[in-house]
Amino acid sequence: MASLGTPSQTAAIISKYNFDFRKKFGQNFLVDKSMLEKIISAAEIEEDDCVLEIGPGIGTMTQYLCEQARQVIAVEIDDNLIPILKETLSEYDNVTVINEDILKVDVAALADKYNNGKPIKVVANLPYYITTPIVMGLLENKVPLKSITIMVQKEVADRMQEGPGSKDYGALSLAVQYYTDPHIVAVVPPECFMPRPKVSSSVIRLDIYEETPVKVNSPEYMFRLIRASFNQRRKTLSNGLSNEKSLGLTREQVVEALVKMGKSETVRGETFSLQDFATLSDLLEGK
Ligand code: SAM
Repeated sequence: MASLGTPSQTAAIISKYNFDFRKKFGQNFLVDKSMLEKIISAAEIEEDDCVLEIGPGIGTMTQYLCEQARQVIAVEIDDNLIPILKETLSEYDNVTVINEDILKVDVAALADKYNNGKPIKVVANLPYYITTPIVMGLLENKVPLKSITIMVQKEVADRMQEGPGSKDYGALSLAVQYYTDPHIVAVVPPECFMPRPKVSSSVIRLDIYEETPVKVNSPEYMFRLIRASFNQRRKTLSNGLSNEKSLGLTREQVVEALVKMGKSETVRGETFSLQDFATLSDLLEGK
């Protein structure tokens, strides 16, 4: 039975181990049982699932995951939490704790080792300072995944769903929408955490597409174009892309492709849909 999930249970563990919250690791622990249950039910964990939890903290959500999944892998960067996790997870024999920075972990190798290379589910209350690199890494590194159910800053969840024309639309929105079908599951107030963050949070579930909704010859090249376009947000696409030396494109080549697409040569990346970037990518690749 899960023994964590309320403010008093978390406070007791924190004081027993004299644990100091480390702001630099984005430590805001969940202390609301109904929210924990909401996340777990949104993740739709089945008894044969292998789940990766990023940043287990003191193991609150990990306990819930261990009760539902076949195997849980929990990757935690903070050494001070490892002895705590030993205690809070001692009841469970289906969890492996890895004391590492998630950005240095080969997640595909974990899926190989713990799930015979079959798709895993990611469930996490993410450290907000590295949400984007974590999500981009999972999506772009060909990790076998079924879904990603994560707590993120509310604004970041909104950005994941934004379309062309919005000021928050960018590389993250395009990567999320190319690889996944995103759904916001819940908006979570600061009171659900200890300590309380300054911002609201959202739980978002990203269901990985078996087939991407847009076809492109090289997704890698398309995302190089996308990154270059949004790095130079204020510039027109033709200036932005030709300024990005690593792409090796001339302004004329970009304009020619835009004209072929029936677009103006002064168009900006923020007005381009995923399909537009895919078409542009196929026209420019190999130039
Ligand atoms: N899952 C716990 C919960 O919901 O109560 C804690 C969530 S807290 C928002 C984020 C967790 O991620 C912390 O435990 C923090 O130490 C850990 N963390 C931060 N950076 C990390 C990294 N680069 N790799 C792995 N874990 C990290």
